[in-house]
Amino acid sequence: MTTRIQHLSCASMHPLAGRVGLVPRDWVAHCLLVETGDRVVLVDTGFGTADVREGRSRIGHVAPALIGFDLRREDTALAQLPGRGVDPAAVTDVVLTHLDLDHAGGLGDFPQARVHVHRRELEAARHPRLDERMRYVPAQWAHGPRWVEHDEPGEDFFGLGGASVVADDVLLVPLHGHSRGHSAVAVRRPGDEGWLLHAGDAYFFHGDKATPRTCPPALRAFQRVLAADDRRRVDNLARLQTLHAEHGDEVRVFSAHDQQEYDALRG
Ligand SMILES: [Zn+2]
Repeated sequence: MTTRIQHLSCASMHPLAGRVGLVPRDWVAHCLLVETGDRVVLVDTGFGTADVREGRSRIGHVAPALIGFDLRREDTALAQLPGRGVDPAAVTDVVLTHLDLDHAGGLGDFPQARVHVHRRELEAARHPRLDERMRYVPAQWAHGPRWVEHDEPGEDFFGLGGASVVADDVLLVPLHGHSRGHSAVAVRRPGDEGWLLHAGDAYFFHGDKATPRTCPPALRAFQRVLAADDRRRVDNLARLQTLHAEHGDEVRVFSAHDQQEYDALRG
């Protein structure tokens, strides 16, 4: 049973297009720190201390320039956990929505943890197509994490199929499209508050999940261009809109980079 969920942002981003008002100016990397039974689970990792230390020699030049990664040690999960009352060495599991560089960067800071990811995502990261090479940074998992690969068939989660168990009250829910094996992570909240659904990069703007959808045109285009499989991304966004419309009171959906959703949840 989940006893505590904390929201943290483990990276700061200021995209070029945000300086001229085409997309939101400040982006977060929304991560969750979940205590459930005897497990401590980190959902996504943002950037890690090696990314901060080595900078662009490690993470490349193109993505950091476009998306304006602002690498600071104090943003890393490793630096934030002690202030949240959790010893980083006590993290038993990391679950990743996907392996893009701004989600998997902190893996090396939790070498003891099992790392849960969808099988198709690990396959994509290990054998990227030409158009996928920029998104993955193999140095971020060169230490050899204790991978736990998840795959369908799984259970139904409010109409989204294929959900598999990561830990008690924590599920990996496939939502492919943004990247080949991209998934959401569902966490049951303590008490009867229902569920959180960390939708990762399945969408980028709080208005994306609304019906009718609202999203700045440049950010719509950005999401289309970044998608490994755009048809699946669009289908999955429609399923999230339905989930939000029909079960929004039981399932609180949020995405990785939206500041407004983060501010509303961090309390
Ligand atoms: Zn991302």
